[in-house]
Amino acid sequence: MPRMIERARQILADVFGFESFRHPQDEVVATLIEGRDALVIMPTGGGKSLCYQLPALVREGCGIVVSPLIALMQDQVSALSQLGIRAGCLNSSMTLEALQETEQLLRKGELDLLYVAPERLQQPRTQQLLNQCTLALFAIDEAHCVSQWGHDFRPEYMQLNQLRHLFPGVPRIALTATADARTRQEILDRLELIDARAFVCGFDRPNIRYRIGQKNRAREQLLRFIREEHPQDVGVVYCLSRKRVEETAAWLCERGFNALPYHAGLDAHLRQHHQHRFLTEEPVIMVATIAFGMGIDKPNVRFVAHLDLPRSIEAYYQETGRAGRDGLPADAWMVYGLQDVIFLRQMLEGSGAEDAQKQIERQKLEAMLGLCEITSCRRQALLEYFGETEHQPCGNCDTCLEPVPIWDGTESARKALSAVYRSGQQYGVNYIIDILRGESSDKTRQRGHEQLSVWGIGKALDQQQWRSVFRQLVARGYLNVDPQGFGVLHLSEKCRPLLKGEETLELRRDLRQQAPSAGSGKG
Ligand code: ADP
Repeated sequence: MPRMIERARQILADVFGFESFRHPQDEVVATLIEGRDALVIMPTGGGKSLCYQLPALVREGCGIVVSPLIALMQDQVSALSQLGIRAGCLNSSMTLEALQETEQLLRKGELDLLYVAPERLQQPRTQQLLNQCTLALFAIDEAHCVSQWGHDFRPEYMQLNQLRHLFPGVPRIALTATADARTRQEILDRLELIDARAFVCGFDRPNIRYRIGQKNRAREQLLRFIREEHPQDVGVVYCLSRKRVEETAAWLCERGFNALPYHAGLDAHLRQHHQHRFLTEEPVIMVATIAFGMGIDKPNVRFVAHLDLPRSIEAYYQETGRAGRDGLPADAWMVYGLQDVIFLRQMLEGSGAEDAQKQIERQKLEAMLGLCEITSCRRQALLEYFGETEHQPCGNCDTCLEPVPIWDGTESARKALSAVYRSGQQYGVNYIIDILRGESSDKTRQRGHEQLSVWGIGKALDQQQWRSVFRQLVARGYLNVDPQGFGVLHLSEKCRPLLKGEETLELRRDLRQQAPSAGSGKG
């Protein structure tokens, strides 16, 4: 056994050109060489691939890599081929000839690594084929896809437990970059990794600087960020909707950037083409929905920007984790605002999901909003979410670098909540702010709102300050958003102690936007 580990070390140097293992690659490799199963939770860029590539090269037979990322398989195979490793893939995008050729190579024992789509692995034909060969191991990449509660659930992953019964004695390794404690256990259970050694690496990505600012004019803010900090760099910009992806990509192109759109609604060839361009060109900016990114190995992504709020901390962590895989400084930049909160809340409540599912999603969104509104270290909060409670403030995120001023918002919050209540809980935020500021209009006159006791009681704050108050009240659950649309606000149970004077409320004082001239808030 030690000889095989020595051999792995030699391949690491001679074939991959790396001096040493990163912890815990050596231990993972040794575990598989011994023929044992493993679960590896390692942040993006941590070096998961070597954990299965090396033992596959050292052990007799071919290593089978199960991956949902068909679009990336060819790139992975090419990269390995360039290193002189005999690699191939089997998936639905290949021609019959190419499939047969790969199968032939496998039968003759001339492949070190074979990438297979999970659905193909289910086919009896593939299983027969694999049964005729010596197999070094199975690597199940992106193993979190087996989690039903997760955002990347793939039903084909559910059957991967069969591997244990169909190929007894072939070690299995499951790998992923995101998994909170619940998901970890789910992976072990569903894949029947009964005796597996678990390697859970730290989630900290010290080279990423986290920044979350208030959305004012999102695109202008983005443009300023890129121009000032990353004019010649590689980056990814995430948007929630396909339409926004296309508009933003076109808008950046008009301003001289090499920006490409990517979303699930684009033709498969175009998507593949843009992905390829992203991997090969520099500078380049991919403007994408969450459809983009899993498995993309571009080490020098210098920034990941979010123009819309992700639905969970897991999603945020995974998306921002695509920055700085080379270990050099990188930015995770996001702007968010009241509309994001209202929109996500509405989507969640209005979706047809079952109550149990909604409840989990609600908790995940709460946690994400908490991270946005926090006034202490963001990294600390992020890591705490993944169960790492021992970290000190990082000194490198926005809240550490520029401590957020807080103010006693109790009085303002009470005024805001009273205005919602007195006007009958039928209006959206802009109209409520008009009432608070005493901005007379046909509507306020016709509806008799100028006679309310709350009319004009909030002149001390301007519109933007009020929006900040309302955003925080919605984010913290004092106000609910009507799922029917139109952003109608209702008081929640949580308001009671605050309105009764039993509770005080500290709010963030949002720094004044530096974006050029105040905008409409439309982004
Ligand atoms: P992951 O799959 O965990 O996101 P990769 O396997 O793609 O990460 O590795 C990320 C980067 O780190 C790659 O560029 C890879 O070549 C590099 N890398 C991995 N292991 C080592 C090592 N032991 N020494 C130096 N570089 C490494």
